[in-house]
Amino acid sequence: MPIATSAASTKGQLLFAAPAPVTIPVTGCSALFPVHRVYCVGRNYEDHAKEMGFTGREPPFFFMKPADGLLVVEEGAVGAMPYPALTKNLHHEIELVVALDKGGRDIKAVDAMALVFGYAVGLDMTRRDLQNDMKKQGRPWEIGKAFEHSGPIGPITPKNEVPDIGTAGISLAVNGAIRQRGSISQLIWNIAETIEHLSAAWELRPGDLIFTGTPEGVGPVTSGDRLDGTIEGLVELQVRVD
Ligand code: MN
Repeated sequence: MPIATSAASTKGQLLFAAPAPVTIPVTGCSALFPVHRVYCVGRNYEDHAKEMGFTGREPPFFFMKPADGLLVVEEGAVGAMPYPALTKNLHHEIELVVALDKGGRDIKAVDAMALVFGYAVGLDMTRRDLQNDMKKQGRPWEIGKAFEHSGPIGPITPKNEVPDIGTAGISLAVNGAIRQRGSISQLIWNIAETIEHLSAAWELRPGDLIFTGTPEGVGPVTSGDRLDGTIEGLVELQVRVD
């Protein structure tokens, strides 16, 4: 009996057109970054962990969003995010997104930065009421985290253009008022340590994105709100909630 080792069968014709790859623009060139998986780190800034009721000293943990749950926003454009179904408490979480162009398993932190292609500004938009319901019941988080347009993301800047990303400021304004402000240096698990932990659990691949967690100050947005996310050295992310 043949042994199957692949995610795909090559026999036969496709029943219908395969979904187009999700792609993100790259600053300074016309090439596109094709997305494989979207990993997210939970509670990776101490003050945010505390505002969510934790100590900030727990080991890192991860969840995913579907690649087609991203909302790709071109430089200079304003992304339009429809207010999602079922929630009455849609929260913003501004995050540094790390884009990988190499993969592997069991990568040690000392080797991890070689996997990184570049960085982007992202928002881990969260249906907080639904997430909290699931937490209380010990159920999975997908309904709170993994929905359409839940991951607005701006263009990727290659890493060699942002050598100081580890100390960059990160902030989010809603309708011009700052709601979140911090520094990438406040990450509990830095980029390399995050890659070490992730690659112990999953085989990382070129095209993987990592949303690295959000600083304190998460809160609700409503239809008509304008979100401006910034990380020093990266292209600003602008989103309007419709
Ligand atoms: Mn998050």
